[in-house]
Amino acid sequence: MTASTLTRRPIPETVAAARSLFDSGATSSAAARTRRLHALRRLITENESAFEQALAADLRKSPDEARLTETGVVVGEINHALRHLRRWARPKRGPVPTALLPGRAQLVPEPLGVVLVIAPWNYPVQLLLNPLVGVLAAGNTAVLKPSELAPATSALVARLVPRYFPDGAVGVVEGGVPETTELLARRFDHIVFTGSGTVGRIVMRAAAEHLTPVTLELGGKSPVWFDDDAGLRTAARRLAWAKFTNAGQTCVAPDYVMTTPDRVPALVDALGTAIEEMWGADPRTSPDYGRIVDERQFDRLVGYLDGLDVRVGGTHDRGDRYLAPTVVTLPGTAGRPLIGPDAAVSVLREEIFGPILPIVPVASAEEAVTVINGWDKPLALYVFSSSPRTRRLFERNTSSGAVVHNAALVHVAAAGLPFGGVGSSGMGAYHGTYSWRSFSHEKPVLRMPLRPDTLRLAQPPFGGYGPRIVQRLMRRG
Ligand code: NAD
Repeated sequence: MTASTLTRRPIPETVAAARSLFDSGATSSAAARTRRLHALRRLITENESAFEQALAADLRKSPDEARLTETGVVVGEINHALRHLRRWARPKRGPVPTALLPGRAQLVPEPLGVVLVIAPWNYPVQLLLNPLVGVLAAGNTAVLKPSELAPATSALVARLVPRYFPDGAVGVVEGGVPETTELLARRFDHIVFTGSGTVGRIVMRAAAEHLTPVTLELGGKSPVWFDDDAGLRTAARRLAWAKFTNAGQTCVAPDYVMTTPDRVPALVDALGTAIEEMWGADPRTSPDYGRIVDERQFDRLVGYLDGLDVRVGGTHDRGDRYLAPTVVTLPGTAGRPLIGPDAAVSVLREEIFGPILPIVPVASAEEAVTVINGWDKPLALYVFSSSPRTRRLFERNTSSGAVVHNAALVHVAAAGLPFGGVGSSGMGAYHGTYSWRSFSHEKPVLRMPLRPDTLRLAQPPFGGYGPRIVQRLMRRG
């Protein structure tokens, strides 16, 4: 069965239904937004086990991991939106400069229209439905494009959405490149894209044709700095958990760890112990350890191991798409850049996006800062250091989507914080109030009374004191 035969409704009809419902005004009242958020919550909670089965089929996620990192995250986001919706939707008082008194201003949020959400395969529920929460809360309609590389989840969403949104407020288009290309040729009022930078550029080019604003949630190499000897055991557990959850296929997974050469042996040992504590001596038999999404990704990852010093794991089985949690150490870089397209080893040339963790020796925290600043701005930076000076060094001298101290990954669960990248790791942010801001237009509404007619002071014929008074007031701001 091809992707296009799976599509329930032709693309033009799906988009037109979302457009005409939005144009009818049926999505903008507070009651309509709340109703749709409740519908989305029921879609998840009434089908929890179907989601678990789909995620097991696509990525061999365990039911606990599925709830923790996929459905639970979306339900949390819905509950957060329901709690705050009234406050977000309330018009706020806007500042008025002295020159425009006694005018009054308000900031009135309004929905944008029809929002296209394009999702990747690695968290196929969370990264498709979490943006949808903000899209619906802000009073928009949506067209969802799940990833064709998570086919069970894609089919489930396509089957459930029409049941819970029979009016077409949310439409689903299944498929891959041809379907996404056809969608991108149409006009949307906003596009939320989560995926690679390569496809992000395609999306942005297509959006430019219609002057459609975009939120791009991209990836990259998220670095780690480690020098906290006293915290070694806990740091290693947190790192191993963050790296090998979902078999390393997480956009904010630690990509590589920098530390001083003397710390490498102890860190490698502690990571080995942590992996065994969490997934057993043979992670292949652990019900909690996932699989690589497909053979193409599997081959890419196994190819990285050539010539590397594998210190933990490294075993693999193509038929099962299994690659063990793997820790590698690297040879010297012989004067070449440590990371980026010219790096000496392939594992440091691009985002790993799989269960391989390179430990990279560098002379000092200052050198680590130079390495980070030598290439694209990362989506996240993780610092495990007991020294406040070192923590400040990274905070002040690097730029990344987020910085987390003493942990990794967990900032994704903070609904009150913006989630997004900077530079090559993305543009725009979402989650909680930041979704609301991204998917609403904050419209200033200025009310000027006709009497007293203060604007006369600025109108010709000039010559009196009027313009000078206005100029002075304007300079006061
Ligand atoms: P991808 O860019 O290959 O695909 C994402 C989506 O784009 C899919 O729905 C796919 O069907 C569509 N697509 C693919 N090629 C296309 C084309 N030529 N034209 C139009 N549409 C196309 O990404 P992926 O492999 O699914 O996900 C992996 C990447 O996503 C990694 O780089 C990862 O870091 C990033 N990611 C980022 C976040 C984040 O929140 N910032 C989250 C997860 C993944």
